[in-house]
Amino acid sequence: MKNQRRRRQVLLFPFPFQGHINPMLALASMLHSRGSPITIFHTHYNSGAIDRSSKHPSYRFIEIPDQVSNLRSSSQDHVLSLIRLLNDNCTVPFHRHLAQVLSDTDDDTVTDCRPCLVLDMHWYKMNPVAKFLGVPTLVLRTGSAASLNGFIALPALYRKGILPSRAQVAEWEMEAAVEELPPLKVKDMIAVGNDREQLLCFVALDAENVRTSAGIIINTSDTLESAELEKLRSDLSLPVFAVGPLHKFATPPEATNSSSLWPVQVRQDEDRMCMEWLDCQDPRSVLYVSFGSLASMGRSDFTEMACGLANSGRPFLWVIRQGSVKGQHLDSALPDGLFGNGTMRSGIGKIVEWAPQRDVLAHRAVGGFWTHCGWNSTLEALTEGVPMICTPFFSDQMGNTRYMADVWKVGVELRVPLERGRVEGAIRRMLTTGDGESMRARAEELQRLLANANEEGGSSCQAADDLLSFLSSI
Ligand code: UDP
Repeated sequence: MKNQRRRRQVLLFPFPFQGHINPMLALASMLHSRGSPITIFHTHYNSGAIDRSSKHPSYRFIEIPDQVSNLRSSSQDHVLSLIRLLNDNCTVPFHRHLAQVLSDTDDDTVTDCRPCLVLDMHWYKMNPVAKFLGVPTLVLRTGSAASLNGFIALPALYRKGILPSRAQVAEWEMEAAVEELPPLKVKDMIAVGNDREQLLCFVALDAENVRTSAGIIINTSDTLESAELEKLRSDLSLPVFAVGPLHKFATPPEATNSSSLWPVQVRQDEDRMCMEWLDCQDPRSVLYVSFGSLASMGRSDFTEMACGLANSGRPFLWVIRQGSVKGQHLDSALPDGLFGNGTMRSGIGKIVEWAPQRDVLAHRAVGGFWTHCGWNSTLEALTEGVPMICTPFFSDQMGNTRYMADVWKVGVELRVPLERGRVEGAIRRMLTTGDGESMRARAEELQRLLANANEEGGSSCQAADDLLSFLSSI
């Protein structure tokens, strides 16, 4: 490995959600391919998503005990409590393990300086630990620059009364513009659960984590968010490295769909099944439908969604995982009569519990993506030039939707509550009209620009080089 002796060891601590593990592992892959020795801290919770030594023989993995039961996945309703619990439970063991790594490194002849640490933004309690032990720390923001601006602005917006609590907001107020954060409307602001105090406390801790770091790494590109990055740089006075889309920098296995919360056998069977099914479909005919790893919908939305998909008459590949429908087991969630053996009775739909999303989006048969607008899904679709139907549920997904529909103009906004006629209309618009064609043309243009940004001389490639120099210098 070129330059390995001169590069500083990088310790990375992903937050154990699918959408946070994937970009952190892609960052590790990018740094490793440029000569940095890599150590990954990971929680026991969701440790199944980290493919350990067999896939990464040259990484070191350190498990941090967390005393959180190993549920297969969490749900959007418990996200904030889970983030707090993990921070509380991991602080002491993280301190112990980090101190051990430092004492090992002090004896190590391969590297000539102490390691530095890259923390997920949600690990707000680990930053003071690293500071105490004298380890320079950067924060990885796995969402967009716009959403980070939203995090930072949220407490002041609430204080000014610009964002009244959702329960008290009339429909017209939700449509009002947030002047501090164009192009967002009130309804696009970050929202998680109904406990406003809990959200404000969480947002303040995350923002403090960012402010007290040595720099911020963001999985975005100047191509998409130059004004938003500019605002961050001027508001925070910290180095900001826009190195996205990170998955396009990654080398195998991170370049493929290797990281998943799902058991390997289930995953491999489903990968094979749905890719073979896609091979049999016409070019750009299929709608890929997936709402990520955390979002869950009510029974009525789910039924309207199923009927709208069936009535559209268009082929679709639909990911329905445990937890997709609130409070309902997968087997009882599917509307009677529409489905059997994972296939729509009409034969036009294919249902899986998990899909190799990046491969699916790159498949020639996929003509559109009905998404919840998680930031990873957004970037993965844009890097393959796929237009989107946007149904956001929580967190930064509403803001991402605004950018897709109104700024990049690559998406159709379709908010809950869903209704089968509107679902059918959005699908037809995406897959059969000139409007859908225009959205695809713009998505393909962004695909080209994002690819250029990751090439030698492009903005993200330059940011990656700058990050490497920065990591060596701090
Ligand atoms: N994903 C996948 N297969 C699926 C659903 C999701 O590989 O069937 C991956 C997807 O490619 C993305 C991540 O899971 O990298 C989801 O992250 P995102 O930020 O889009 O949403 P979140 O799950 O955090 O809400």
